[in-house]
Amino acid sequence: MSGCIKWDSDKPLKLSKIDAGDTGGLTEEQARAKFLTVSEELSELQALMYGAGSHSALAVLQAMDTGGKDGTIRNVMGAVNPQGCQITSFKVPTPIEQAHDFLWRIHEAAPRKGNIGIFNRSHYEDVLVARVHNLVPKPAWRERYKHIANFEELLADNSTIIIKFFLYISKDEQESRLRKRETDPEKSWKLSVADWHERSLWDDYMKAYEEAIEKTSSPHAPWYIVPANHKWYRDLIVSQAIVERLRPYRKQWHKRLVDVGDEMKAELASSGVNGVSTPSNGNGKAKGKDKAKAKNAEQPEAA
Ligand code: AMP
Ligand code: MG
Repeated sequence: MSGCIKWDSDKPLKLSKIDAGDTGGLTEEQARAKFLTVSEELSELQALMYGAGSHSALAVLQAMDTGGKDGTIRNVMGAVNPQGCQITSFKVPTPIEQAHDFLWRIHEAAPRKGNIGIFNRSHYEDVLVARVHNLVPKPAWRERYKHIANFEELLADNSTIIIKFFLYISKDEQESRLRKRETDPEKSWKLSVADWHERSLWDDYMKAYEEAIEKTSSPHAPWYIVPANHKWYRDLIVSQAIVERLRPYRKQWHKRLVDVGDEMKAELASSGVNGVSTPSNGNGKAKGKDKAKAKNAEQPEAA
């Protein structure tokens, strides 16, 4: 994917070398046209995933303030059936959350099988804001990279397709977005004194992002660095990346849907309840089909 960086290198990451204003050579019109096509495929894949019920998907969204997490969720996920989506926004931990380990609240929000989960901020705050503001001692946050990697491996082993995004805007773009919030009455509600303070720590945050991305990228939980100054390009890249992660499962999910449907029909035929329509739970899944569910850890065929 031109313009977007999927981080799978063991070289050090230098965010300052990445152009946040990149558009991959596309005009806005071209990107918007592509986005519509990709959105259709995303919607189709989500419907298959939901019906098959064998996998979940988790998209993690991280960004500096004004980086576009809310807009990305609205635009990209606008294409899919809300019934199959779980969106969780992570704020400053509550006292009860603070009384647990940092992954406690995160694990609870992990998407159930069939669903796409979106994390608006995530466990990465615990190696970003926690590091930049010394919320925990250095040895404690340093240990967290390992815990995060292990946690994500656990989710992946449980058939969660993980994809992590850093929506990367430039410092200048952030300033113009913050100023716009001051002048646009419909955006002013998002203003926060803290945003300007956080902005003054920009370089520390970039260092924290670089290390988090370097230390936690893996084939089962890759990071994508998305040039996000142009919202239309950002949306395209995020939806394209999700589609590319889900597409290899298409055949497997489709087959499972058909198999489950066949089992339902066979059950109906042997039940002797002629003329009564199939009792459905509305999501295409057969109830109590443990045999079929046992297949849920299957890996995708080669794309
Ligand atoms: P917003 O996304 O603008 O609603 O802001 C949420 C705030 O919660 C941000 O300032 C985050 O840095 C903060 N936050 C989220 N997770 C954590 C965390 N684990 N520790 C400390 N602050 C957090
Ligand atoms: Mg904010």
